[in-house]
Amino acid sequence: MSNSTSIAVTSTTACPCGTGQTYGKCCQPFHAGSKLPATAVQLMRSRYCAFALGLGQYLAETVPEEKAHEFAARTVSRQKCRWTNLEIIKTEAGGLFENTGYVEFIASFTENGRRETLHENSRFLRHNGKWLYVDGEMLP
Ligand SMILES: [Zn+2]
Repeated sequence: MSNSTSIAVTSTTACPCGTGQTYGKCCQPFHAGSKLPATAVQLMRSRYCAFALGLGQYLAETVPEEKAHEFAARTVSRQKCRWTNLEIIKTEAGGLFENTGYVEFIASFTENGRRETLHENSRFLRHNGKWLYVDGEMLP
């Protein structure tokens, strides 16, 4: 049961989020639940990475509870796309000692052979010590 969206990523290959670190030292501990992202941008990267790897459960666990279903469904609907690049444009707050943060990014993907980009300014909140993706403003 393989499809075109599955990427061969292991703990020793480059993390899909593009930090230049290995998956094992970057987003894997977040996905495995052994570590929590310390900053909004770490959560942002780990969520991009979860989209790339099709980890719907992680996506559902990193939004406010009332939005979890929406996310699980959205992930399924996006399984035909292949996430190819993440560029962080700007971050605002979202640090170790803050409870809100914004991350502007451009994510690139191909869907049905077409190259697309998603440009968004995402809003994150820390809830009980855990960063969550709340919503985002689409940018042109
Ligand atoms: Zn990563």
